[in-house]
Amino acid sequence: MSMLCPSCNGDTRVLESRAAEGGAAVRRRRECTECGRRFTTFERREREPLFVRKRDGRREPFDREKLARGLLRAAYKRPVDPGDVDRLVTRIEAEIEASGGELAAEQVGERALAGLRELDRIAYLQFAAVYRGFDDPSEFTRELRSLGVAPPGEAEPAGGQEPPANGPRIPSEARG
Ligand SMILES: [Zn+2]
Repeated sequence: MSMLCPSCNGDTRVLESRAAEGGAAVRRRRECTECGRRFTTFERREREPLFVRKRDGRREPFDREKLARGLLRAAYKRPVDPGDVDRLVTRIEAEIEASGGELAAEQVGERALAGLRELDRIAYLQFAAVYRGFDDPSEFTRELRSLGVAPPGEAEPAGGQEPPANGPRIPSEARG
């Protein structure tokens, strides 16, 4: 559906479209094809309440601030752009909306994990540790090692293997 010119009611064409509010809105620069008047429209989708379905069947309102806080906490001291976290939350929000306004909590969590993994693998693991609640701490350690990262409190990434006795010694500072 086209937007009509506020001056002459003529048809307008879009000169430029730009995402606003982190993708929640679109700002369009338009020009009337009849009288040439230029104006700007602002398109924002109507907000429907979104819900997260818990394992026990309860529905909770989707709290985008809470999700963003959890993700930012996991990304603490990691090179993660808060804008990227915001975009991730917006993407998840859009998916809940696309699923009819409700999504299972596990699916929200898995999407958050997958998105965070793209941004920063350590932040992802920290989020996973809280979200999935690694029962066994060694599981977390194993995941860290699989990424080539020394778990906290360990100096060496590869864990305890002595180099061959006659092989060259690599000073540990020079590694990893
Ligand atoms: Zn016009």
